[in-house]
Amino acid sequence: MNRTLLIVKPDGVERGLVGEVLARLERKGLRLVVGRLEVIPRDLAAAHYAEHQGKPFYDDLLAFITRSPAFVAVVEGPKDTWRILRTLMGPTNPAEAPPGTIRGDLATETAENLVHGSDSAEAAAREIALFFPQLA
Ligand code: ATP
Ligand code: MG
Repeated sequence: MNRTLLIVKPDGVERGLVGEVLARLERKGLRLVVGRLEVIPRDLAAAHYAEHQGKPFYDDLLAFITRSPAFVAVVEGPKDTWRILRTLMGPTNPAEAPPGTIRGDLATETAENLVHGSDSAEAAAREIALFFPQLA
């Protein structure tokens, strides 16, 4: 099986959309392997979003992703799971996300775009090891 990291970000938990997101993934054919609700520690958030360090939105991004509990999970499918999840999510900017996608149907702002999904097979392996070292 082929795995990727999913985060329902604090805005999604605050808005009560964890079930909605998981239902969409499950209807597609992805399955939950493990998941937990947690306030992501700041050092973990910084490691996770290290590629964005120095960008203008970085400080706000870290404050946002750590402000209240997120639902962090590993999902799996037969193949290309990271790509399937990214397709279900839609583009980063919800204004560009088509109807039918999670961000297209449920979000309006880039800064609060509900979900994270790893953006490559390598990123999935790295991020799963970061949040769920017992699975790596
Ligand atoms: P994620 O990594 O959270 O799945 P993504 O891969 O679609 O999102 P990235 O380019 O990796 O997009 O950006 C990471 C996150 O940083 C975005 O999801 C968004 O929350 C925030 N972000 C990115 N660009 C901007 C921006 N221009 N203004 C505000 N926030 C931004
Ligand atoms: Mg990203």
